[in-house]
Amino acid sequence: MSPRPVVSVITAHTQQEGGGFTVRRPFPSRGLAQLDPLLMLDEMGPVHYGPGQAIGAPDHPHRGFETVTYILDGEAEHADSSGHAGSMSPGDVQWMTAGAGVVHREMPSRRMQREGGRMHGFQLWVNLPAAEKRIAPRYQEIKAATIPSASSPDGKARVRVIAGEALGAQAVIATRTPILYHHWSLDAGADVALPLPADHRVGVYVFDGTARVSGRELHAGQLAVLGEGDHLTLSADGPAQALVLGGRPLNEPIAWSGPFVMNTEQELREAYADFRAGRLGRIPPEIVRA
Ligand code: FE
Repeated sequence: MSPRPVVSVITAHTQQEGGGFTVRRPFPSRGLAQLDPLLMLDEMGPVHYGPGQAIGAPDHPHRGFETVTYILDGEAEHADSSGHAGSMSPGDVQWMTAGAGVVHREMPSRRMQREGGRMHGFQLWVNLPAAEKRIAPRYQEIKAATIPSASSPDGKARVRVIAGEALGAQAVIATRTPILYHHWSLDAGADVALPLPADHRVGVYVFDGTARVSGRELHAGQLAVLGEGDHLTLSADGPAQALVLGGRPLNEPIAWSGPFVMNTEQELREAYADFRAGRLGRIPPEIVRA
């Protein structure tokens, strides 16, 4: 057994997204362009909104990749150009394959917009291989209760498996290429070894407390990029939470502009032209505006 070493530690920067909400973003950043095939990780909040303050992302397009939304606190509503609409509660995951293209909006629930409340969650962008960038859009919506979970034998480490496998629990989400997405909760004294596929690029983002990743101490808001090996270790001296993220690299050229991630500049120009011409569709007016 050879542990994957921590090869770099990235401290997330903050920036504004959507209608003006603040995210913590470990990548892309100056220290880490991508974690191929993962393009971006945003932590939304935690933030406490007063009445009338909650902000979302009004109508915008995507093409060429997948967006994965995971809500820890708060309520979100979404609607899109295929006529699809839904809501998310704490613990729910929405895995949206934008593929050829959608126009959607992602907003706090109307109740949250009215009354305020705590919002905390993540959005991960997962790249699609060149051959699948124009597949039909698809949604996988997984309610909190159906996300597989498991615990270490001593109960001090618990994991919710959104993608991939951990402690014998296998994710229910189907991914286009092999992806890992785990949410770990650690108690004082937790110490687990996690086998990992050798061909995956892997990062660990600590977002609550302090945890040791392959022996390296990380604080909330830091992402460890791991090198080669067959497992990582997670341990903590107090309560901590982390995401283990990764996937099999695509090793393809990336042409990225705003909400579109393609392989060439020409494909980006097509995406903008298609969006401007309305070919990515529009959100049907009969869907109640969130
Ligand atoms: Fe979006």
